[in-house]
Amino acid sequence: MSLTVCPLASGSSGNAIYIGDTQNKILIDCGLSGKKTEELLRSRGTSCAELDGVILTHEHSDHIRGAGVLARRWKLPLFTRPGTWGAGGQILDSIPSKQQKLLLSGLTFGKIEIDYFPLSHDAMEPVGLVIRWGKRQISLVTDLGEITPEVEEKIHGSDIFIVEANHDPDMLASGPYPYFLKKRVSGPQGHLSNDDCGLLLSRALNEKPARVYLAHLSEENNDPQVARLTVENFLRSRGRDSGLEIEIAKRYCASLPIKLL
Ligand SMILES: [Zn+2]
Ligand SMILES: [Zn+2]
Repeated sequence: MSLTVCPLASGSSGNAIYIGDTQNKILIDCGLSGKKTEELLRSRGTSCAELDGVILTHEHSDHIRGAGVLARRWKLPLFTRPGTWGAGGQILDSIPSKQQKLLLSGLTFGKIEIDYFPLSHDAMEPVGLVIRWGKRQISLVTDLGEITPEVEEKIHGSDIFIVEANHDPDMLASGPYPYFLKKRVSGPQGHLSNDDCGLLLSRALNEKPARVYLAHLSEENNDPQVARLTVENFLRSRGRDSGLEIEIAKRYCASLPIKLL
């Protein structure tokens, strides 16, 4: 059996990640419309009917926009932190109570085990995730303004990292955003820059080979090539660039999936 990991969309226009083996399948975040999410899952050879549930990292609309529709249409359980249920209620709309699941401890779906940890971001209870599948580990850390020791520790030694490389600080500074938004994005509850991403990876990688998706890239304040080069250069400068494969998580369509054995 293998585990497939595939970002279906990434960025402020909508986020969703599919993770599944032959027995169990989950969706992490659902920031696209229900219809678009169904299409993207079908493009990966699966369907909403096969999902065990949807896990929501925080209440920003680029992470939950289509979750209510999907949950109602396919009778899927939604798992998230209590604060996210409170803050995201309006966007999620009415979800039958038996489908409202609190993310209070780890979750297990067959061989897939999921643990969460807090992130510094301007939402009620934003979380990053670590997914274990046998001896394999996948970590998801987007939408954070600060690298904490807990984040480094939780994701350390993963086989696949899905890590935010949101902006290039110079592009953000000279870009079209109003001042308050520039401050928000670069602040401690905003988003990680390309350099921050390199720093986090340099601390989280161990000696074994790893695959990386650079995720949640800003359309206005970043460029895929700039993101990749910045992260690669940073890791090279720290001697942490060997055995590493880096992909950019695509904004509007499914990225190349990775299969873990
Ligand atoms: Zn986001
Ligand atoms: Zn967010």
